[in-house]
Amino acid sequence: MAKGLLIVYTGASGVGKGTVMKRLLQENSNLRLSVSATTRAPRPGETNGIEYHFVTIDKFKEMIANDELLEHAVYCGNYYGTPEKSVRDMIDSGLDVMLEIEVEGYKQIKKQFPDCVTIFMLPPSVEELEKRLSGRGTEKQDVVQQRLNRAVEEMTFAKYFDYQVTNDDVEKTKDEILNIIANIKKERN
Ligand code: 5GP
Repeated sequence: MAKGLLIVYTGASGVGKGTVMKRLLQENSNLRLSVSATTRAPRPGETNGIEYHFVTIDKFKEMIANDELLEHAVYCGNYYGTPEKSVRDMIDSGLDVMLEIEVEGYKQIKKQFPDCVTIFMLPPSVEELEKRLSGRGTEKQDVVQQRLNRAVEEMTFAKYFDYQVTNDDVEKTKDEILNIIANIKKERN
């Protein structure tokens, strides 16, 4: 059986990655999202094992020591990492796997999987991003500012990604990404 694609999906906090991701998963039954481990506290409505595996710092360090993570990074004071086994199992069974990760993680994945597909999601503008991040109300103002600074820094890396998509409309962005995936699968088969 042909292996699935490994897709790196990166973009600023608040850009709408999660919302678009949900629509992608609804419309493409061969697509899976890798569930990362994080030391960040769950937001209201987030469930352990669904959005993330929420773990302690000690547990996260143990996962690093045991070589259980494909990549990991610190983002605004918290650890985030991709569990290796589940990703490899899904790819080996022909599923296409999206890693929703930040730029440091992207660099580590790109080195290990040079033929991964990389997609960077941009906001329509920085002002719009600030509005979305503040409006979401899930982070305190100093964390919003931290995330915004990191977002602006990360956007300078967008040019190194295979594809840049601007999220000004969820349905349009979702279709754009579905097309990218469909075209790559056609090219590679
Ligand atoms: P959030 O706290 O908003 O859920 O995520 C913060 C940032 O961490 C986002 O840019 C998200 O894409 C990134 N992130 C989530 N999981 C991982 C992971 O496993 N590895 C890395 N490197 N970044 C991640």
